[in-house]
Amino acid sequence: NGSSGALRGLELEEIFIAVKTTKKFHQSRMELLLDTWISRAREQTYVFTDEEDEALQKRMGDHVVFTNCSAEHSHPALSCKMAAEFDAFLASGLSWFCHLDDDNYLNPHALLTLLSSYSPAWDVYIGKPSLNRPIQASETLPNNQTKSICFWFATGGAGFCISHKLATKMAPWASGHNFMSTSELIRLPDDCTVGYIVECKLGGHLLPNALFHSHLENLQLISRPQLREQVTLSYGVFENKLNVIELSGPFSQEEDPSRFRSLHCLLFPDTSWCPQPIFR
Ligand code: UDP
Ligand code: MN
Repeated sequence: NGSSGALRGLELEEIFIAVKTTKKFHQSRMELLLDTWISRAREQTYVFTDEEDEALQKRMGDHVVFTNCSAEHSHPALSCKMAAEFDAFLASGLSWFCHLDDDNYLNPHALLTLLSSYSPAWDVYIGKPSLNRPIQASETLPNNQTKSICFWFATGGAGFCISHKLATKMAPWASGHNFMSTSELIRLPDDCTVGYIVECKLGGHLLPNALFHSHLENLQLISRPQLREQVTLSYGVFENKLNVIELSGPFSQEEDPSRFRSLHCLLFPDTSWCPQPIFR
């Protein structure tokens, strides 16, 4: 468009979407995502997992990446996957990196609207702050002494995005085997490690954004009109209770316990398996 000073229109094609999963969730979680939001962002989405699976490969082709990371919930195993996601993004040359867990719903339109306000040539790290204060950690120095540090980080379970420019600067700490070594310095999970690299190594800042959601917040509080605008949503357990968004239909709680199928029909009513309006 000809308007001077405006950011050029962002296209979904410029975004690299990485989904972290593990063998035991291929069926229970990935099928749901493939049926819903991934069907609207198929070309941009890559799934990072730990074990070969013909069924998943059949649906995703070369968009499923079998990492050699172990299928454990340990910090090194999870950091190994984040490193694989990060490297694949850098190799893609795309403008934006967005990480998601396999229990996230991503609204591609809302993501585009959000990222259109920023330039990939700026340093951007955007997501939902994990805590309402910076995390305090201890960093191992080269002389084996420790230093106390504090930094903000975006919770991986709500999804977050990083601009191409910032990712390039992060590479010395985040690419290849470096991510694992960096993660070991603070002995914290992968999402904390991302925040540590951005804030402590590069002097950058997390841009807090309320449109990203994990299941560690009460998802029932999001109203129906607000649901359309959210970039990510989730489902799971919170304070020992099932935590899902509030949507009465079209599918029942039994048919659609995560509510993702119902949400998908709200956002994309033309989907073949959504109940179609009856015209008379
Ligand atoms: N995950 C993984 N390996 C594991 C367990 C979990 O890669 O051994 C991934 C999982 O697929 C998901 C993320 O880590 O994308 C978070 O897992 P989950 O939702 O089960 O746990 P939470 O941290 O949300 O309680
Ligand atoms: Mn989860």
